[in-house]
Amino acid sequence: MTYTIEGNTGTWEIVCGLEVHAQVTSNAKLFSGASTAYGAAPNSQVSPVDAGMPGMLPVLNGACVEQAVKTGLGLEALINKVSIFERKNYFYPDLPSGYQISQYEHPIVGKGQLLIDFLDGSTKPIGITRLHLEMDAGKSMHDQREGETLIDLNRSGVALMEIVSEPDIASPEEAVLYMRKLRSILRYLGTCDGNMEEGSLRCDANVSVRRVGDTALGTRCEIKNVNSMRFVARAIEYEARRQIELLESGQKVVQETRLFDATKGETRSMRGKEEAHDYRYFPDPDLLPVVLPDDFVERLKASLPELPDKKKARFMAEYKLSAYDAGVLVAERAAADYFEAVAKGRDGKQAANWVINELFGLLAKAGKGIGESPISAEHLGKLLDLLRTEAISGRIAKDVFAIMFETGGDPEAIVEEKGLKQVTDTAAIEAIVDEVIANNPDQVATYQKNPKVIGWFTGQVMKATGGKANPQVVGEILKAKLPPVD
Ligand code: ADP
Ligand code: MG
Repeated sequence: MTYTIEGNTGTWEIVCGLEVHAQVTSNAKLFSGASTAYGAAPNSQVSPVDAGMPGMLPVLNGACVEQAVKTGLGLEALINKVSIFERKNYFYPDLPSGYQISQYEHPIVGKGQLLIDFLDGSTKPIGITRLHLEMDAGKSMHDQREGETLIDLNRSGVALMEIVSEPDIASPEEAVLYMRKLRSILRYLGTCDGNMEEGSLRCDANVSVRRVGDTALGTRCEIKNVNSMRFVARAIEYEARRQIELLESGQKVVQETRLFDATKGETRSMRGKEEAHDYRYFPDPDLLPVVLPDDFVERLKASLPELPDKKKARFMAEYKLSAYDAGVLVAERAAADYFEAVAKGRDGKQAANWVINELFGLLAKAGKGIGESPISAEHLGKLLDLLRTEAISGRIAKDVFAIMFETGGDPEAIVEEKGLKQVTDTAAIEAIVDEVIANNPDQVATYQKNPKVIGWFTGQVMKATGGKANPQVVGEILKAKLPPVD
């Protein structure tokens, strides 16, 4: 499972740490009451605080603090009872105050961890270094008017959680799994909607390489602007190969910030690290230290939902699912809830098969999420009941399922209306078996030499009954009626 890259002079490994910016789910901004709704007209959601007007005072939004603490708890992290907001000073047109309010030496959340899940069911812990709260900046728009840059301050002051990982990520795949798992946890907690297209989840990847066997860390580059899961993997892979080429040809990796160009699939230099680094952080004199009462954290802890890891373990124990199936089902809370509604009181494995193989398959084809499933959990459960009581055969069940997906109909009603009930009536099946045997003497002779031909007879009987005969009953009757094998 260890991921390595073969160079010209030896074998290399990747070392990667991710800094993820997650937009806090909250109606109002971190230090003002302005709305955070996505897609509003430019500069329509800007309070004087967000516009950096002189003399305006920030007021900390308690709901955002709760969200950060909840997220910290979900990452099994240390919650710091005292944290401090500091000013990070820099000039940029989309930052009217000339400083970003962030946390630096005293973040609200300290060390934690997150388990990534590999496809084979194994896991690996990735350390979380810290999580801190900070305000977002505005947005510069360069392509609206020829030769001019326009500024939209709607995003200015929106609360972000910066979640920093340890350099424990060792491959592009692990980076994607990390992002997926983090997103899953955030969505379970309801602390970030995880929408990468709308920029609610953005990621900077720090990448370095070293020869296999080396323990010291190499010089890293930080890649900005990685805004989709696919790009995370591609950016890391490209950057690692670039660094290996440099090192193998006797050059050095320069620590710098690079930009990922998705169209070209490459990273390029944006700015050196040194000059960008003197932000002159200092505690914001307009804001008091954040002091969390003991019962505040305890109350939030008690309110946490069952998170993916726990749910996965429970699904494996309670419904006898494989690690893989359980992992697929718990990735999204709505899918897990759907599965449980189907599986309760039924065969868990069978329920998982139908949800994963049949339902997810059709949903993916239709480009729909589980929330838009035309088949309700109740209806899928009923379909499984029809199978269990042998009211319909497995083959018919697939047909009924397809109709349910088309129409959103009730499986009982569909079976009734289309006359799809399985025929278990022995007399009716016997009559058909007799007819098939009488009409096919050649096949009977073949059967006597090769008993496998019974499959052909089963097929004929099923066809004659429109697939409605109970295949097991058909098999038994055929065996009894066909002449003995030579
Ligand atoms: P900065 O404040 O300059 O961004 P940090 O020390 O906070 O630097 O590290 C940022 C990220 O870089 C973290 O995710 C960390 O795991 C990662 N990182 C640190 N050193 C390396 C390295 N040598 N190679 C790859 N990633 C690294
Ligand atoms: Mg950084």
